[in-house]
Amino acid sequence: MSHYPTDSTQLAPVERHSIFQNSLMTALLDGIYDGDITVSELLGQGNFGIGTFDALDGEMIIVDGQCYQVRGDGSARPARLDQCSPFTVVTNFVPRISAHAPNDMSRSDLGDYIDSLQPSENYMYAVRISGQFHDVAVRTVTRQEKPYRPMVEATADDTEIHFDNVSGIIGGFRTPVYEKGISVPGCHVHFIDDARSRGGHVLDFRVKDAIIELCPATELNLRLPLSSDFSRADLAPENLDEQIHTTEVKT
Ligand SMILES: [Zn+2]
Repeated sequence: MSHYPTDSTQLAPVERHSIFQNSLMTALLDGIYDGDITVSELLGQGNFGIGTFDALDGEMIIVDGQCYQVRGDGSARPARLDQCSPFTVVTNFVPRISAHAPNDMSRSDLGDYIDSLQPSENYMYAVRISGQFHDVAVRTVTRQEKPYRPMVEATADDTEIHFDNVSGIIGGFRTPVYEKGISVPGCHVHFIDDARSRGGHVLDFRVKDAIIELCPATELNLRLPLSSDFSRADLAPENLDEQIHTTEVKT
């Protein structure tokens, strides 16, 4: 059941809502992995979000104001407040749209399903799917050494891990295509299980019994790194689509 007004003329979100983002997807692709904002500062910007850690040392997921670090083996632990991040997207999650997720919904169905719930694909959405999953497939970036390699190389040998019959939260963002390069266009989601002990960057999933909640956003607060590496980075590669697909979608 959607709690969004059913009046089809109402295509805009009912409230203004802000997303905070640290750095750019293109900077991450170009190997700008030095963290320059702390978990403590990030939690001041929102209680929900995703990202990565200094030196690409694992996937980040923030749920209910707690930040977790997921390592290469899929294990998760609470992050320290003084750990730094080179790329993060956070918001204060308000579940303005809520529905039972269709049984067997997979990652490839998620975009269309959000389209069926949402007022317009021209806004940003924080997405949270909580409940039981038949399976969740994840990968996790691993700590890099300097000089940093581009992300296409750094993620080439990431292991894919499968969690069967697992309960937890898949959280992240649905980003409009016009944000390509700033963020990951489409759905970018991470997973953490109920025990907060396992997770990763989600490659695929299949819903068993879960609630999906959306938080529409109308503004983006973008914070660029103050580093010479960032100032020299190539942020307009010709094969941007291919790089995003290779590093984030992997199928
Ligand atoms: Zn990710």
